[in-house]
Amino acid sequence: MTDDAVSYPALYLKRGEDARLRAGHLWVFSNEVDVKRSPLGEFAPGEACVVVDAHDKPIGVGYVNPNSLIAARLVNRGIDHALDRSLIVHRLKVALGLRERLYAEPYYRLVYGEADGLPGLTLDRYGEVVVGQTTTAGMERMKDDVVAALVKTLKPGAVVWKNDAGVRALEQLPDEVALAYGELPPEVLAREGGLDFRIDPLGGQKTGWFYDQRANRDLLAAYVGGKRVLDMFSYLGGWGLRAAAAGAADVTCVDASAAAVEAIVYNAARNGLAGRVRAERADAFERLKALREARERFDVVILDPPAFVKRKKDFAEGRLAYRRINEMAMQILAKDGILITCSCSYHMPAAALLEGVQQAARHVERSAQALVKLQQAPDHPVHPAIPETDYLKGFLCRILPA
Ligand code: SAH
Repeated sequence: MTDDAVSYPALYLKRGEDARLRAGHLWVFSNEVDVKRSPLGEFAPGEACVVVDAHDKPIGVGYVNPNSLIAARLVNRGIDHALDRSLIVHRLKVALGLRERLYAEPYYRLVYGEADGLPGLTLDRYGEVVVGQTTTAGMERMKDDVVAALVKTLKPGAVVWKNDAGVRALEQLPDEVALAYGELPPEVLAREGGLDFRIDPLGGQKTGWFYDQRANRDLLAAYVGGKRVLDMFSYLGGWGLRAAAAGAADVTCVDASAAAVEAIVYNAARNGLAGRVRAERADAFERLKALREARERFDVVILDPPAFVKRKKDFAEGRLAYRRINEMAMQILAKDGILITCSCSYHMPAAALLEGVQQAARHVERSAQALVKLQQAPDHPVHPAIPETDYLKGFLCRILPA
């Protein structure tokens, strides 16, 4: 170790368990830890550590959670840098470098966890307001440093912790939604495709907005001019309002959340689209059935549902739900219709989604053409060694008569 090496306690790996980390992964599973040399119980949740291989060679610094299946996450290779504010500032600057290249205005996902070298941290930027989530005990411990690093690099007007993600339970973290810094302006906006969407940083879903679909929503323009569009699972109407702005004649947004429906009405008016946008509170499956029974037809249907496969063991059931909803969408699609179908379930492979589309098409005597394969926007970069960072998939399909 060099003189300025950090002095965190060592987390020793069993023989051979360093290979995945050396190949680029950042996670240490609890069964990979040499608990004789470094009992997990001796670490506090979130405590910093040096990850060391069975030959006593340090790999890097990270943090431990003795209560989680993922016992440790590597934050930095080598042992010269502490897990502190200056490391976070450095990471933020690198993350910002990408986003500023991609987007003219400060509306984007600023930090996407492992893929941006900050495991357990998500930051979304809405102009002057940053909304963050920590999902690990290690990142939870660094919360104040994250806020200080944000203040130093971005000078935001406000930082909010929207710490109510379900995965926090895996790390035994309680829910906490709070203003961490500054003051919230009367309206917080997500700006996308020339539209302003009012979001709710404290009470909305996830961090308030789904930037991951932005590049996919950009594709709408080619398909919606003069058309009748249905945006299912619309949330605040990201797809639907962008379709209306791109010239759709008539847009229906459907979501189960009353707050979302209210926000769509507001956002449509705010962007001068109220005349062509309608919002309905309903269950998607029930609404699709009713639309079929009423023989309604749409030229474009967007299905952007919540994850139907949250855990691996839900795969069989979730895949059926995807197939069923796609089939129902096809039943109300015009003869030469466009179906945009998405899944944000990591455990649902793209191939399985497309297979469901094909099976659904056969079942309702239609034929499908997949025109564009969809993925998460580039402000949600994929870490090539960590498949879990690659979660969003979808297809833009043309649905023809059989
Ligand atoms: N399409 C949105 C994101 C959707 S998130 C966008 O582009 O921003 C999933 C949405 O589905 C949530 O708003 C949630 O309220 C809604 N939802 C969940 N279950 C539903 C159901 N059974 N029927 C209708 N909406 C549902």
